[in-house]
Amino acid sequence: MSEYFSKLFDTSDFPARWHCGNWSDFLGWLHILSDLATFSAYFAIPAVLFYFARKRNDFPFTSLVWLFGAFILACGTVHLVDAIIFWYPIYRIGGMMKFVMAIISWVTIITLIRYIPSIMHLPSMAATNDRLKLEIIQREQTEQRLKESEASALAASKAKSAFLANMSHEIRTPMAAMLGYADVLLDHLKDPDNRNCVLVIKQNGQHLLELINDILDLSRIEAGKLDVEIEPISLVQFVSNLHSQMCVRSQEKGLSFDVKFASEIPDRIRTDSTRLRQVLINLIGNAIKFTEKGRVQLAVYMSQTNELAFSVRDTGIGISQEQQKRLFKPFSQGDSSVTRTYGGSGLGLDISNRLTRMLGGSISIESKLGVGSTFTVTIPILSTDDSSLVKPPSFGKLDLAVNETHKIQHLACRILVVDDRRDIRHISQHFLEKAGAKVTTAENGRQGIDVAIAARDKCEPFDLVVMDIQMPIVDGMEAVAALRLEGIDWPIIALTADAMKGDRDKYLNGGCDDYLSKPIDQGKLVSIAVKYTRDISKKELNRLRTERAKKFQTTLRSETSEARQ
Ligand code: ADP
Repeated sequence: MSEYFSKLFDTSDFPARWHCGNWSDFLGWLHILSDLATFSAYFAIPAVLFYFARKRNDFPFTSLVWLFGAFILACGTVHLVDAIIFWYPIYRIGGMMKFVMAIISWVTIITLIRYIPSIMHLPSMAATNDRLKLEIIQREQTEQRLKESEASALAASKAKSAFLANMSHEIRTPMAAMLGYADVLLDHLKDPDNRNCVLVIKQNGQHLLELINDILDLSRIEAGKLDVEIEPISLVQFVSNLHSQMCVRSQEKGLSFDVKFASEIPDRIRTDSTRLRQVLINLIGNAIKFTEKGRVQLAVYMSQTNELAFSVRDTGIGISQEQQKRLFKPFSQGDSSVTRTYGGSGLGLDISNRLTRMLGGSISIESKLGVGSTFTVTIPILSTDDSSLVKPPSFGKLDLAVNETHKIQHLACRILVVDDRRDIRHISQHFLEKAGAKVTTAENGRQGIDVAIAARDKCEPFDLVVMDIQMPIVDGMEAVAALRLEGIDWPIIALTADAMKGDRDKYLNGGCDDYLSKPIDQGKLVSIAVKYTRDISKKELNRLRTERAKKFQTTLRSETSEARQ
């Protein structure tokens, strides 16, 4: 061995390989260059590995990278020596390099066997090593904890939704009575001071109700229980109704509110008008609320991206850059002085943003503190049979629509009101009788069925039934089913304090023609009564019922086939 090392650089008794055999120049250089190319690649691989491993302080296998690099470098060096040997006789050094490479190769293989299971997260013989075992146990525990917390978060979210739904029902029912009686009282009072007191009660009740509705909406959206119902609507009609609704609020504050069609617009669009109205009412409502002087304007136009845009511009207090960043988060409001002055819950914009996204659109904002704000909602136009762009009507026509909506509506019909709560019965009766209807009341579903059948047998049919849903003895839906079985085909309106998704379909598919949620709004109750006793003919009502039944059958069929799959 010592002789080997002492003669390590003695080349006298070796010829260069070039001179052994019959190498052509080409083959000789091919040999040398191939060995040099292999060496350079084997040098580059560990260099790249070290470079990247050094950048990651948290990399857990640095020793393995060093070893692996050394192994590749050793392989490469053997090729370098081979290239030299071809030209110059240093065979002993070549032999020693191969020996070094063999040792490094085996050390690498042994180390790899130890590390690979932990790299691949597999328990194995290497896991006998205490540290690795501990790591594996900790990882499993973390995964378990994650699963548990995911399950408990889901359960908590479900419980929250159920709680909110129940609470909203419990709160809306007494609110229905309070707001209703405030209206009844207003009709009886003449003294301005007394009327003012009742108006304050009513306004505050309405604020409370808006808050409950917002919280309920948010929980519905979060629980995925809020669906959009896309249907064709007339854009001008939609905007004109919105204008008339919001004009009342702006006039109360002494502000002007106008609508401008800033380009040609589609005659009809397909969207969920209820949700779109909710978003725009919130934005226009905010604009009115946060503006003391000046004007609020709604501009409707086609955007450059060929979407339908609604811009609500105000000359109000404006919003700081800082606040704009967190504007669409729930419960986010301006600074505390703004909150103190204007009140509110900070939920409206979050809900509007989510609803707009559900409609496939987006909301953007431009605002300058002290100058004013512009909120722009853009939604895609889903094509209808008649979605071509038309010249918008002049503003005068919109004004006509305002007057139309505020026309006092008269009823000349017989209505049966079925509700177990005396206060609600009384309020509904008061509103309907005030509009001119003759009202009979019943205290529960059973009584309702009896009164209806007796009226039919005496040939004194009712023109409309207003049916509460949750009642003792026989509930509203059972009563409706019994009336339909009896062949009674009068229009029936479901009246309920429940407002979760699916409720509406449940009532309509169960035999009702429409649905009204509590607290009872005098205007809405009278309008719906007018609609079903005066505006809709029997033929039209039957057509609507057949259409609904067909739709219900199709849904049932597709649900059944989905369930089978
Ligand atoms: P709320 O109005 O009930 O507080 P929103 O989510 O609708 O809740 O609005 C959140 C906040 O955004 C408001 O409290 C207000 O500070 C600010 N904001 C919204 N719209 C406007 C506006 N048009 N002008 C000025 N500030 C606004």
